[in-house]
Amino acid sequence: MTSLTLPGAPYFSRREGVLFCEELSLQALARQHGTPLFVYSKAAMLGALAPYQKAFAGQDAQVHYAMKANSSLGVLQVFAQAGCGFDIVSGGELARVLAAGGQASQVIFSGVGKTRAEMRQALDAGIACFNVESEAELDVLSEVAISCGKVAPVSIRVNPNVDPQTHPYISTGLKGNKFGIAHEDTLRCYLHAASLKGLKVVGIDCHIGSQITSAGPYLDALDKVLDLVEAIEAAGVPIHHLDFGGGLGIDYNGDTPPAADALWAQLLARLDARGFGGRRLMIEPGRSLVGNAGVCLSEVLFLKPGEQKNFCIIDAAMNDLPRPAMYQAFHRIEPLAARATAATVYDVVGPVCESGDWIGRDRSLAVQAGDHVAVMSAGAYCMSMASNYNTRGRAAEVLVDGDKVHIIRVRETAQDQMRAERLV
Ligand SMILES: *Cc1c(COP(=O)(O)O)cnc(C)c1O
Repeated sequence: MTSLTLPGAPYFSRREGVLFCEELSLQALARQHGTPLFVYSKAAMLGALAPYQKAFAGQDAQVHYAMKANSSLGVLQVFAQAGCGFDIVSGGELARVLAAGGQASQVIFSGVGKTRAEMRQALDAGIACFNVESEAELDVLSEVAISCGKVAPVSIRVNPNVDPQTHPYISTGLKGNKFGIAHEDTLRCYLHAASLKGLKVVGIDCHIGSQITSAGPYLDALDKVLDLVEAIEAAGVPIHHLDFGGGLGIDYNGDTPPAADALWAQLLARLDARGFGGRRLMIEPGRSLVGNAGVCLSEVLFLKPGEQKNFCIIDAAMNDLPRPAMYQAFHRIEPLAARATAATVYDVVGPVCESGDWIGRDRSLAVQAGDHVAVMSAGAYCMSMASNYNTRGRAAEVLVDGDKVHIIRVRETAQDQMRAERLV
């Protein structure tokens, strides 16, 4: 075991060698509910939200949880009850917000490929803002709004061309990726948006990437966005709100991102210094609200020693935990109960028939078949990306609240998976 702090501490902790989530033993939860099992800490979610709320106390600001990070209804319910709005990227996500008790008037809709049907659905529900990502989308959205007898509130997502210094697949604010409107085209697009009858310009937004672990890229993006706001307003188009997206990183493996309140203290100071103090603010954090609020419990099925590699085969796989296969991402893997025996170095892999189905490489673990492990930092971009590949049912999910546990998703059966299918 390493000496690094446990991701998710203090909500996840080791007590006399046994891993706990809040007041409950993870071993007991694995036995009761089976594996693979996602376990979320409600206190950890609220604890991750708190620094944002603290930073924005007294400001005209709203946190919109970027729900693609984890869109399970029970998770959305926690954030809705805590006063969050939501950042959605599909009509399906809007349906989830409403099913979880969220308010459409607190929803903003991001994404480069909104369909006409999704635009109509969101207009009918009365969402707060469409974050538009191309000129063509402005025209179509205006047309759809006029056909519904509505006016669509819009913000344009600008691409500030800053390097967030993160994995290329999760960096979104650089030239040459598909997101947002290039910095130099922004003013023209705003003037165009302001001329369209079906649209009302309400804001500006940017989102530069994900798992960002320093303040620098945010400050750079802020300055570029404020330069644009000055130019757009000078041209006669008022910008009501500023939306700085999400992207703040979490500790997966000793990473040290700034705390949300410290980061925002810096950003708010810069806003003040540039004369934008008091302007309405929106943010869209995803990973930083849920990533370290969840773990995935899994059983060790077999140990398979080899000439070059030893394999530890567990019952969770790339369909449950896609991040290692997709991004070569690192998740800590912790035995639920510490063993006194010597550790062996394993590649921890799942049962899926792909060499890409690995969860952790070269991990030193003291485990035997039948033991359980926790894949840490599994609250974000795991269940929401889960698939049924190999006809594996999606895992069950539970939410821990102190010494209580709520089942928020029952394990998916083969029947569930086949329900929409028909024989010829
Ligand atoms: C994914 C996404 C977010 C959330 O990103 P995190 O890194 O999870 O905070 C916010 N805004 C937009 C537009 C996104 O696509």
